[in-house]
Amino acid sequence: MELITSSLLRSPHGFPTRAGGVSVAPFESLNTSTASGDEQAHVHENLRRLARAAKVEVGALATVSQVHGLVMLRAPGGGGEQVVPPLGEADAIWTSAPGVAVGVKTADCVPVLIEDRRTGAVAAVHAGWRGVIGKLVQVAVTTLCAAGTTPDQLRVAVGPCIQRCCFEVDGDLPTRFSEAFGAQVVVRPEGKAKAHLDLPWALGRTLEAAGIAASNVDVRPECTRCDARFFSHRRDRGLTGRHLSFITCVGASAL
Ligand SMILES: [Zn+2]
Repeated sequence: MELITSSLLRSPHGFPTRAGGVSVAPFESLNTSTASGDEQAHVHENLRRLARAAKVEVGALATVSQVHGLVMLRAPGGGGEQVVPPLGEADAIWTSAPGVAVGVKTADCVPVLIEDRRTGAVAAVHAGWRGVIGKLVQVAVTTLCAAGTTPDQLRVAVGPCIQRCCFEVDGDLPTRFSEAFGAQVVVRPEGKAKAHLDLPWALGRTLEAAGIAASNVDVRPECTRCDARFFSHRRDRGLTGRHLSFITCVGASAL
């Protein structure tokens, strides 16, 4: 298994690549979703391997049914050796229960992991363009702060995703994004007819507005479409796997 990590986060966490799982083509190998047709037995074995990497029992690896919405759910305590179903429909998930890991599934969308140094709470956010323009990371920051912290205590890692080099968009999206984040979010690469968006940059602006210093935000540079180590919905034309990015709550005293 190859886990990309951030030096800002002290909780066990990772942004996995495709390596280290048991699924076969076109899902090779660490796929965590049956949505595109992979075998459930393979997906469950991959989840067990990821739970070991997260240092939790597989029954304590909490996920949500992602719907490109703006809802965040709280994962209660959990455990056991059985893979558990998603908590419900949402695109962000958090917990303050030590021994529980939360995760989001992506293949080009942006996975964001958050740690609260004060309470030990952790969160995982799935942001496609709808989540970025809808400011789901702001919902996550507000939710964590309501549970007993302040933005200066949060550390954020923005994981591998489709970057400005590859995220070509149509229609009114360039206008909507420049109105929401400023003209810099729209990139027009030389020789390309269509505009591209810089989703991690937009997320950075939302986090800044939420009171999080740039020095407490780590933005990974990997592009999932350019880099063959990753599943990419665009490059693989929909027939691909999903990465599960995770972060584990260990309690404030362990941070
Ligand atoms: Zn790229």
